Amino acid sequence: MWDREVPRLRSNERASSAEVPSAGKDLPMLPRLRFPAPWAVAGLATVLVVLAGFALWGALTTNRDATDLTRTTATSKAFTDARYAVGQEESLERKYRLQPSPQIAVLHAAAARDVVAALTAARRSADPQERAAAAQILGLQNGYLAAIHRMFRAVDRGQAQSQTIDTTQVDPVFSRIQAASTGAAAAAEVDGQEALARLRHAENLVLVGIPIAFGVGLLMLGFFAHVLVAALRESRSQARENRHMALHDALTGLPNRTLFNDRLEQAIRDAQRARGSLAVIVVDLDRFKEVNDTLGHANGDALLVQIGSRLREALRARDTLARLGGDEFAVLLTATDAAGAGEVAETLLRALEATFALPGASVGAPASFGIACYPKHGADAETLLQHADVAMYLAKDEHVGHAFYSPERDPYSPDRLTLVGELRRAISDDELVLYYQPMLDLRTAEFTGVEALVRWAHPVRGLLSPDVFVPMAEHTGMIGPLTIWVLDRALGQCAAWRHDGRDLSVAVNLAAQSLLDPLLISDITRLLEKHGVPPTCLALEITESSLMSEFGRSTAALEELSAMGIHLSIDDFGTGYSSLSLLKRLPVDEIKIDKSFVMGMDANANDAVIVRSTVDLGRNLGLRVVAEGVDTERLLSRLRTLGCDSAQGFLLSRPIPAGELEDWFGTRVGRRTSRMRA
Ligand code: C2E
Ligand code: CA
Ligand code: CA
Repeated sequence: MWDREVPRLRSNERASSAEVPSAGKDLPMLPRLRFPAPWAVAGLATVLVVLAGFALWGALTTNRDATDLTRTTATSKAFTDARYAVGQEESLERKYRLQPSPQIAVLHAAAARDVVAALTAARRSADPQERAAAAQILGLQNGYLAAIHRMFRAVDRGQAQSQTIDTTQVDPVFSRIQAASTGAAAAAEVDGQEALARLRHAENLVLVGIPIAFGVGLLMLGFFAHVLVAALRESRSQARENRHMALHDALTGLPNRTLFNDRLEQAIRDAQRARGSLAVIVVDLDRFKEVNDTLGHANGDALLVQIGSRLREALRARDTLARLGGDEFAVLLTATDAAGAGEVAETLLRALEATFALPGASVGAPASFGIACYPKHGADAETLLQHADVAMYLAKDEHVGHAFYSPERDPYSPDRLTLVGELRRAISDDELVLYYQPMLDLRTAEFTGVEALVRWAHPVRGLLSPDVFVPMAEHTGMIGPLTIWVLDRALGQCAAWRHDGRDLSVAVNLAAQSLLDPLLISDITRLLEKHGVPPTCLALEITESSLMSEFGRSTAALEELSAMGIHLSIDDFGTGYSSLSLLKRLPVDEIKIDKSFVMGMDANANDAVIVRSTVDLGRNLGLRVVAEGVDTERLLSRLRTLGCDSAQGFLLSRPIPAGELEDWFGTRVGRRTSRMRA
């Protein structure tokens, strides 16, 4: 049965589905690149820092050692100068004692100044020991100069004591100066040598170490760079894969709803520019749940994959086939009108006809196709998909393979909502009319009954087919009053015929909901009494699918109706998957083979088999079998040969108003009976 809530629910699901990106319209963004291989980056940075540190250390060490060398060289030179000047002092002092002259005194004074200057330079040394040595020698030098002056004065006066001054006052100090300055010069020399050695060492280190370090560093840089590039590539391909996964269905590999929506939107924009058309087909499997429940999910998955590839193969390369989720697929046909879409739907239906070989079993997978066309049925992607969904439920409901969207039958379209409002008034204002279609008894060649079929003489829209408003009445709680109206009129008409001597039974269609209505029995009893019609003249037709879906709850009502003497008939037989055991338990009198099988008999061997086996089944169960949809002579004679009890169809008569039926009986009955006798 067509559950009107389903399409709306599904569209809500669609809006909140986790598959849909939050932006709705936009394709999912390329997943953000996480920085790959952080350890490689850290390695790269470390190598660079170590290399820079090493270079800095090399530069600083060399610089320090060079400075050391300069300093020690200067100090060494200062002490050497001092020692030399001290030697000068000594030799000039001797000369002065042998031949005193003012020139020698001047030279001696100059040598003494040189000593002081050299020692003053040595005192600038950074080494504290050297500074101390220089200071000590300077002190001695001062004492020495004082002794020299005393000695020079004694020489000038020609005093013999000059010799004594020399040996007791000058020489000892001088010896100490000489020893100290020689020692200091030697020590400074050693320092200088050491500094030179250190500098050489540092130079060597820099000369050899830095190239090695840089070589190793470069190798490591190369390694880390290689790792980084590989990681970047890897994360790029990961991103590509993520993007594919975000836009495709993991099971079938087909585009998913997101990608489908995107392509549909694009196709609508193109069609808008080119003033062209396109179509959306929503495909839903009719019995996928059964496969899943009975054969398990692995088989269900395998079935979906096979269905995906069969549908894909049946389509043109430029058409998009997507899996919307569950057992629902969608097709986008660009540059296609309604007729083209209908043909494609038929092709796809045929593609699914052959059974599917699954690991667990071989199964059929009937499906329903709903079609919505741009611009006729919607101008945007969401509306088109929703309408194709509604059409798919229409197709499912009527077992017709494919159906186009129709606003009158869309439970949510504004058109239909207006109709719903008008239907209530139509019932009370008698806008409904009953047509009657006669049924021919193939054994007696007599018209023994009619089926009452309701129409709506809408003041604006004209005569509306029950397909437009009966399902709507079923889903808006209006089926109760509608059924009562039909029963009342049909029984009234039946009474009128009987009054005129025409013994006709009248069949009324009963919706599943009416069968469950607790007031049904009392209403029928009341109406039978009101019109004075015996219950045996009333037949009630209940579709096979509503009988099966409400089996447990409807049997009590059926029993009661049957006990009253009312005829019960299973309508649209063959479309509802009855089980034989359930059929046996139902208190029914008649089976009406669905017109799709009857009408298909000539073209389709399967349909002929179904009709034949239904006739056999009816016979075995003791039920009358009626064939509806008989619209050719050939069909009529085949049905008669098969042993079918009754026939109904356009060949005999279309449904017509009661007034026309009277004339029709006058002409047709005579003709038919004479032809049957012949
Ligand atoms: P149904 O009960 O299967 O009625 C038979 C339908 O098949 C009728 O359509 C009839 O016009 C059509 N038909 C009969 N012979 C032929 C034929 O040879 N060829 C073709 N192509 N069609 C044929 P209609 O009158 O449009 O009714 C459609 C459906 O509406 C009915 O199907 C029935 O399910 C429903 N319906 C009609 N009246 C009522 C009603 O009063 N109450 C309820 N609950 N449903 C009704
Ligand atoms: Ca019927
Ligand atoms: Ca029928």
